[in-house]
Amino acid sequence: MSSEKKILNCGTTDPNKILPIKYKWAREYYKKGVANNWVPEEVNMQGDLEIWKNPRALSDDERRLILWNMGFFSTAESLTANNLVLSIYKHITNPECRQYLLRQAFEEAIHTDTFIYCCDTLSLNPDEVYDMYRSIPSIKDKDDFVVDMTKSLLNPSFETKTKEDIQNFVHDLVGFYVIMEGIFFYAGFVMILSFLRQNRMVGIGEQFQFILRDESIHLAFGTDLIKTIVAENPEIWTSDFKEVIRKNIIRAVELEYTYAKDCLPQGILGLNADFIKEYIQYIADRRLERIGLEKIYGSQNPFPWMSEIIDLRKEKNFFETRVTEYQSGTLRWD
Ligand code: FE
Ligand code: MN
Repeated sequence: MSSEKKILNCGTTDPNKILPIKYKWAREYYKKGVANNWVPEEVNMQGDLEIWKNPRALSDDERRLILWNMGFFSTAESLTANNLVLSIYKHITNPECRQYLLRQAFEEAIHTDTFIYCCDTLSLNPDEVYDMYRSIPSIKDKDDFVVDMTKSLLNPSFETKTKEDIQNFVHDLVGFYVIMEGIFFYAGFVMILSFLRQNRMVGIGEQFQFILRDESIHLAFGTDLIKTIVAENPEIWTSDFKEVIRKNIIRAVELEYTYAKDCLPQGILGLNADFIKEYIQYIADRRLERIGLEKIYGSQNPFPWMSEIIDLRKEKNFFETRVTEYQSGTLRWD
């Protein structure tokens, strides 16, 4: 019976028995992911290459902003994929959640591939880009913060048996889903999508648009997963534990603001680091509320266009650029 299914420590059902489904949200996110299928080669990068090669088409500040975001995302995507496959998958034995985790892992492979494709087409120096997670302090600090949060899970004997174990697990899930995918990606999204809004570096902009849409589902799955673990194990949700999570999110917002200041030492593209700080605070409040915690900042969204970009349907872009290849897919033409 599906009612015997539990999200953690479920010895009573077979992990291969996906039907009947208990956690319908996991199934729905899986289907949404499939409906959003894309690959980076669908996006034409020719216009970006022309701009990138033209020494007068981009200011030094604009170039740095693009390069640093390539640097952060190129390695953050594989960090996320590794966390997912090596840590989270092992402990989430519920089959419908595992089905989604497999889909998410595939999407992270697509994202990793996107940065390979961008580096190749723009002829970026891979040694430079793929070393920025060590050589640029504000990128390194973000990655170190997330890696630090995975320590308990990387212990091969880690189990989710006791209250403290489950707290550690949820703590780490907040690190992966809420902080890495839900906060640390967002200054970069705003910066790159600001080029797209100006109709410049449109290829990279569209790649980021697709990634952002995937990531918003990863985040939604992650927060539903966290909420379900808490609902089934209410003893873990103590005020001390909630305070630990709040402090981690506050620290993440600070790290993301430091990164934004480094990327954007002076205002360009209608952006500056203080607007980005407000935006990060605004989304951090939304993330807190989504996992059942009170908001902290009360900041307004300075970039209301970001939510439109997330909701944008792929087919619209797609018909403008590459009509033919999508006919084999499941897209309906009405
Ligand atoms: Fe990703
Ligand atoms: Mn992701």
